[in-house]
Amino acid sequence: MKTAAAAGYDVQRVRTDFPALHQQVHGHPLVYLDNAATAQKPRAVLDAMARFYERDCANIHRGVHALSQRATESYEAARRALAALLHAADPREIVFVRGATEAVNLVAQSYARPRLRPGDEVLITWMEHHSNIVPWQMLCEQTGATLRVAPIDDAGALIVPEFQRLLSTRTRIAAFAHVSNALGTINPVRALVDQAHAAGAKVLVDGAQAAPHLRPDVAALGCDFYCVSGHKMYGPTGSGVLWARAELLEAMPPYQGGGDMIRSVRFEKTTYNDLPFKFEAGTPNIAGGIGLGAAAEYLLRLGHEAITAHEQSLLARATAALQQVPGLRLIGTAPHKAAVISFTLDGVHPHDAGTILDQEGIAVRTGHHCAQPVMERFGVPATVRASFGLYNTPEEVDALVAGLHKVLEVFA
Ligand code: PMP
Repeated sequence: MKTAAAAGYDVQRVRTDFPALHQQVHGHPLVYLDNAATAQKPRAVLDAMARFYERDCANIHRGVHALSQRATESYEAARRALAALLHAADPREIVFVRGATEAVNLVAQSYARPRLRPGDEVLITWMEHHSNIVPWQMLCEQTGATLRVAPIDDAGALIVPEFQRLLSTRTRIAAFAHVSNALGTINPVRALVDQAHAAGAKVLVDGAQAAPHLRPDVAALGCDFYCVSGHKMYGPTGSGVLWARAELLEAMPPYQGGGDMIRSVRFEKTTYNDLPFKFEAGTPNIAGGIGLGAAAEYLLRLGHEAITAHEQSLLARATAALQQVPGLRLIGTAPHKAAVISFTLDGVHPHDAGTILDQEGIAVRTGHHCAQPVMERFGVPATVRASFGLYNTPEEVDALVAGLHKVLEVFA
């Protein structure tokens, strides 16, 4: 992999694209390290959304007037940008949704619910976010299928032979994160997909935490469903994508009924629209979709190779420095990680640490990160999580470490 410098990555220039970064918090320059919860938005995204509202605001797809046509063209151009980012075979495979949560629920209810029977199994992993656990539990209650959970090791890596052992002809779906939000672990997606396919299962990959850090290349990953949250990849809140193979989407019933998802409605029988509109009932988040398209183009312009290299250097610096902080325990030390670091401090509640860091202008997340089984696995109620994005700097890593020394002084 090229280094960030070799790829010509200029983080100070990149920072000028993000207005929110340039503010003081409690008298200190903001150090924003809560990117896994949501990322800040580049000017390109804000401008695309403002342009829609200021100039093109109209409902899409059915209007004959100029504004509606411009809005439709922007929305469909955004879909093409997402298809390019995800390396989808066809923009028809890009379904706009509210976020990764809605994408997983859509697959559980539309793909899986009509197909699963008692005795069938859904295989997930111990590191999943609640949004890749609860929809499958609900599905199992509805269908009589059984949920299986592949364990993780003490470093927070999936135990791949156990995942393989739990796969059988009963497994209809395997669903797992590309990147864990609580641990930073990057899963060996291609190998897991191949194993699951060999067992005859379909594979859903939760890419919510991957798309900001790694190229979410569905062609290379070989999965069947891929879920993205727009707001974590520098796009607007309430935007996201479900990617699925066209033949699977064709075979799935609509998730919701309403306007735009139909071809014709008669009281005797309604016929459904073509892909992807069959899955986009009602007026969508038009500005959100357009903003997400701008985020995809922004990421493509910077290039994931350069982004990944930059973030990996931040991760290495932070991991080395945090290990020197007295009483700090890293939670999640898998060999392959994205730039997400969870930790605890002896004798300090994570919320207290987070509050003191906030007084220094440093934004981190504290809590269970919607991954309570992970917390249970490591025997902690909560962690502090610092998560880095494409605009963070080595100096911000140092600010975090200095902030943690302040926390320790308070609790000394
Ligand atoms: N999966 C993972 C791994 C996540 O981190 C999150 C958000 N924290 C989600 C799914 C759900 O994303 P959203 O809340 O945007 O739907």
